[in-house]
Amino acid sequence: MVDLKNKVSRLAGKGERSVIREILKLLDKGDIISFAGGLPSPESFPVEDIRKMCDKVLSEDGTSVLQYGATEGDKVLCQQLADYNNKKNFNITAKNVLPTASSQQALDIVGRMFLDKGDNIIMGLPSYLGAINAFKAFEPNIIGVKLDEKGLSATLMEKALIELEAKGQKAKFIYMVPDFQNPAGITMPKERRLEILALAKKYDLLIIEDSPYCEIRFSGEAQPTFYSLDDSGRVLNLGTFSKILAPGFRLGWIISSEEILDCAIVVKQTMDLCTSPFVQRVVGRYMQEGLLEPNIEKTVASYKQKAEAMLQSFEKFMPEGVSWTTPEGGLFLFLNLPAHLDAEKLMTIAVRDYKVAFVPGVVFHCDGSGKNTLRMNFSYESVEAIRKGVQRLAEAIKASL
Ligand code: PMP
Repeated sequence: MVDLKNKVSRLAGKGERSVIREILKLLDKGDIISFAGGLPSPESFPVEDIRKMCDKVLSEDGTSVLQYGATEGDKVLCQQLADYNNKKNFNITAKNVLPTASSQQALDIVGRMFLDKGDNIIMGLPSYLGAINAFKAFEPNIIGVKLDEKGLSATLMEKALIELEAKGQKAKFIYMVPDFQNPAGITMPKERRLEILALAKKYDLLIIEDSPYCEIRFSGEAQPTFYSLDDSGRVLNLGTFSKILAPGFRLGWIISSEEILDCAIVVKQTMDLCTSPFVQRVVGRYMQEGLLEPNIEKTVASYKQKAEAMLQSFEKFMPEGVSWTTPEGGLFLFLNLPAHLDAEKLMTIAVRDYKVAFVPGVVFHCDGSGKNTLRMNFSYESVEAIRKGVQRLAEAIKASL
């Protein structure tokens, strides 16, 4: 037998399986109501339209889209994405768009582009677990900055930057999900974005703006993206079709300056040569036909109902001492339990005895804090299951108090 211990790299050896993906596997079977994954509702996938678009692309361009493509991406898709984002004041051309094998690859590209061992980066407490893990591979020093009700705190961020300066150090970038943050469901208002942008300029940081949920807004007013507010070329805006069309496509994009994308293209070449030309063209044509926006509208209407059902059920069933965020969009909200409760322990009881699942918030905290928090997804289960599941969760919490 091969002794793998002597063979695997440091990176693979320390790679931990994602807690969320492991929890999801357990939930495949049984009658558990799951608020754990970040899965879109299957009803949001426009299967028939995609079938038609695949047929069209194969008849029109079959031989070219089944060939290798340029790393730079499919021209039809890049132009569509430029037009689409210019409606949000991005002021870009197709050359500012790099299609990726979804946002998770974009996060890996970001790590490969900018991180050497020991580099300082700033992330929220809490932050998206997939980003924490993607960056950890490059062994950076992750500085966690607490979120308040307006998102990442600019005051605490500056405090951290001043402390670094005192040690003669700098940070390379700040990573954020400004809209309907995963996991907290919080959106940064424009003033906070401007404050953070000013800090990024003052301390010369890049901004990684991860934006998978931006379009899923069901109340309140859209806030300008960091990319549209910036005039100094320091923002990488990451987008994906996972939550607005279908995660099975594994298709996303990076929007940034041509200089930054040149570097990203070199990095991506060694990862996969190019993102699937077939998938890119199918989605590009789907956008060209004007089908994306109506599909998003339909999805948003359904998530609004589901989020409302979850919030109403919290009001009705949750015991004293439990509080939660009220998202204006996205797929998640965050629960704060009384300080002495441990959500990981609650998870065992909830799944085993109450048949309801969530993700313990501690996994989203790079410093191991947040033990009394948990993340709830509201996009996947039906309204009825959401009501029943919240009631079960409330019972599990009461039993643990
Ligand atoms: N960023 C954030 C904040 C996410 O929540 C997710 C998916 N849950 C991703 C990136 C990755 O999305 P994908 O790879 O499917 O595009």
